[in-house]
Amino acid sequence: NLSPRLAAVASFVPKGARLADIGSDHAYLPAHLLLKSHIDFAVVGEVAKGPLENARQELKRQRLLAATALRLADGLAAVTDDDQVDTVTIAGMGGILIRDILAAAKQRGQSFTTLILQPNTDEQVVREWLVQHVYQITHERIVQEDKHFYEIIVAKPGNQTLSAQDLVFGPFLRDEQSPAFKAKWQKEADRISLIFERLTAAGKTDTPAYQQWQARFQDIQEVLS
Ligand code: SAM
Repeated sequence: NLSPRLAAVASFVPKGARLADIGSDHAYLPAHLLLKSHIDFAVVGEVAKGPLENARQELKRQRLLAATALRLADGLAAVTDDDQVDTVTIAGMGGILIRDILAAAKQRGQSFTTLILQPNTDEQVVREWLVQHVYQITHERIVQEDKHFYEIIVAKPGNQTLSAQDLVFGPFLRDEQSPAFKAKWQKEADRISLIFERLTAAGKTDTPAYQQWQARFQDIQEVLS
């Protein structure tokens, strides 16, 4: 069974999608969707040989090799036009790497109907890239696993304007104010409070860094109130 994080990613894959899972590692996500007959084809992309071998073993064990194309490639270079991929999942990587993968794909002239992205960090970088490149965010979800919070961002081609706060907090997530959302940002506010204490003790309150933390802290208070 999938972890709550990957289950949330999987829940956004349309039935019958032609999927590319980039950075698939053990290929748990495509394997799960294939086993449920939710999809019948997936490109499994990996930049590293070890993880691609993990994927091959898992898919072989589940007798799913015939329904997949395993590709050793950087990002969406794993996908060819002939694959007719319409849905892309990229999960469990930093937001900057996800942005770079999307940007390289755009440069190659690739475009996809549905992007399902789960950045581990720098979510605002991903949202920024999406709105700047004519994708609109259609769904978001936040999932807590142990002490970690994971955001899932679903996007489709289209126009959207987002405020600076939307980019940081997520337009849907901040509207929804789920318990996980509140817990994530309360944790961040607590972390910033400790930074304030340190900077105050060091006599560094009159600095650009302090002001930046203060602005972020105020944004969090505003969004949580
Ligand atoms: N997607 C799975 C998940 O969410 O559980 C696995 C995440 S794993 C932490 C990240 C994987 O991304 C690694 O296996 C790594 O080799 C792969 N990766 C990193 N950069 C990549 C790139 N540019 N193209 C394809 N795969 C990449």
